[in-house]
Amino acid sequence: MGSVTANELTLDDLAEWLRRYAQIVDENKAYLTELDSAIGDADHGANMARGTAAVVTTLDQAQSIDALLKKAGMTLVSTVGGTSGPLYGTLLMKMGMATGQRIALHPDEFGKAFRAGVEGVIARGKTELGDKTMIDALVPSIDAFDAALADGAGLHDAVDSAQQSAAAGRDATIPMVARKGRASYLGERSAGHLDPGATSATYLWDALADLLGV
Ligand code: ADP
Ligand code: MG
Repeated sequence: MGSVTANELTLDDLAEWLRRYAQIVDENKAYLTELDSAIGDADHGANMARGTAAVVTTLDQAQSIDALLKKAGMTLVSTVGGTSGPLYGTLLMKMGMATGQRIALHPDEFGKAFRAGVEGVIARGKTELGDKTMIDALVPSIDAFDAALADGAGLHDAVDSAQQSAAAGRDATIPMVARKGRASYLGERSAGHLDPGATSATYLWDALADLLGV
């Protein structure tokens, strides 16, 4: 697969995005589980690897971007037992609902869809910024993506900016006290640890950056 140079994301690009996401998750499975062993139940790597491997088997069937994303999201919901499955599933399903039957998206359309996905996670998880969840990586990343486009950046530079903001948001979860999910059971003791879900959320942008040659 060559890198994408056009200022749009096609159906094939988005399928490749999810393939690369699955690959990065698989490569970091042990690390994600290690993070979850500190403040959760040590299954985030296994959960995400199982779910994304199942998603990969669905990617060749879709004829449009909405079908691709909805199927991927439903597959995550049905194969991942943990909290993260339904939340990542919601992200992709809401993205799919936002795109309509398309075979390519302009950067601003991708941004709108991604934001709809993030809003879906917030609604389903009843989360807000600062709760020490995946939201703390997702919200700053889509804000940065949109801000870059508003400044006149193309897809490549907007993804670069989103990737950096996701990583910064992920790292900002370290001092936070968890207010959602299993980590919240630890109260103050959850502080001082990176959130596993914010880490796997950052991989979404790493996968897209990899695809685009960022
Ligand atoms: P479980 O907590 O059921 O074992 P995982 O270990 O797969 O599920 O996922 C844990 C991650 O899910 C956390 O690190 C956090 O980022 C995310 N998470 C948990 N609860 C919520 C929520 N209510 N909203 C958003 N993200 C959440
Ligand atoms: Mg867990």
